[in-house]
Amino acid sequence: MELNNGSAESASSAPLNYSDDNVVKPLENKPVNFYSLTLEDLKAYLKGKGKEQFRAQQIFKWVYEQRVTDPEQMTNLSKEFRASLPEILSFELPRVITHLKSVDGTQKMLFDMGQGQSVEAVLIPSEGRLTLCISSEVGCNIACKFCFTGKQKLKRRLRTEEIVGQFMQIHDRLGEDQRITNIVFMGMGEPLDNPEAVFKTIEVVHSPWGINLSRKKITVSTSGIVPEMWRVSAAKVRLAVSLNGPNDEIRTQVMPINKRWNTTELLNACKEHYRITKDKITFEYVLLKGITDQIEHARQLVKLVKDVPCKINIIPFNEHPGSGYERPSDQTIEAFHAELMRLGAHVLLRRSMGRDIFAACGQLTSQVPNKPESMDISNSKLAGLPKYKREMLQDSQHQEQ
Ligand code: SAH
Ligand code: SF4
Repeated sequence: MELNNGSAESASSAPLNYSDDNVVKPLENKPVNFYSLTLEDLKAYLKGKGKEQFRAQQIFKWVYEQRVTDPEQMTNLSKEFRASLPEILSFELPRVITHLKSVDGTQKMLFDMGQGQSVEAVLIPSEGRLTLCISSEVGCNIACKFCFTGKQKLKRRLRTEEIVGQFMQIHDRLGEDQRITNIVFMGMGEPLDNPEAVFKTIEVVHSPWGINLSRKKITVSTSGIVPEMWRVSAAKVRLAVSLNGPNDEIRTQVMPINKRWNTTELLNACKEHYRITKDKITFEYVLLKGITDQIEHARQLVKLVKDVPCKINIIPFNEHPGSGYERPSDQTIEAFHAELMRLGAHVLLRRSMGRDIFAACGQLTSQVPNKPESMDISNSKLAGLPKYKREMLQDSQHQEQ
């Protein structure tokens, strides 16, 4: 696949007005970013500008079906309307800073979000699926102890067009025969801390006039902001919950949010989600050496989730500098996995992908790295790889489902 660093791709955009509450609004009389809009939004906007509303449908078809964003090429629009479009709509996407490709096929893109801030999206191929993991915030205030993103306080919540834009940038670089089949909100940030932009993005993603991806292919992962979890059920998308502790005591130790909403409240919200959607919940459980990885913890975990139809996704801790935690040995990981299976749990062991490009869970950072703009670590170069990279390749013989 061609790797493109995305330079010089962005059109000029409206100056932004950063208000105290992190909400960014376009200044008056400046073009609105198309990717921030639903079909209804665009109709209302065009109406306000004295334009015909049916043009909205035509523009959506050009952009999401044909990937045409140059108004001059939107041939079914009148000449006059085409000429006026740049004044009212911009099709700017977040600028791509780097695009890295791992030995295991995982790709990572770093996006410029302005003011020295950046976020990442990761594309993960597996068994006929192409899953895109996207970010919802720059940094994160939930401050889970083991998470690299959580080390950086929340800088700002992303806007809809910045989340949709991550999808479009990756989509635009796929080969003819490739398409993104699944989207997970498991990148940087806590999606339920930014619900407005996240659920508007979801509307754009699943609607036939938008990206047109089934709701069942969209997963929102949360650390457990219980009062906002109803939104996931209402949107009828899949729910993943970062559990990461087998009981309240350990969960509070690694995820301080558990003091605010404990496992009883969290699991009640999960049961409610199942009642409404009939979809199993995915529990993510990070294995931290000596803290969450004991056989006793596996037993407590199964007990804890016994009333919630679910699968458990075990994620061996991905190490990052200064975390203070360690990844358990392969033997411990296997024993934990085996115990869950012995107890009848539906369990997945996630062999983290993309570790060589620092794209695995919890390794995402918003720092702009001192790296080349585009890098391809292809199989042909494997022979010359250092031992640790070859091991990572072996590690990518994952068994996700
Ligand atoms: N904020 C959301 C989504 C992003 S985090 C949430 O917490 O659910 C995505 C997943 O990565 C979470 O399940 C989290 O538990 C896991 N994770 C975070 N840091 C990790 C690390 N260092 N190693 C392995 N998994 C990690
Ligand atoms: Fe935020 Fe999720 Fe990381 Fe916790 S695990 S700090 S909620 S990104």
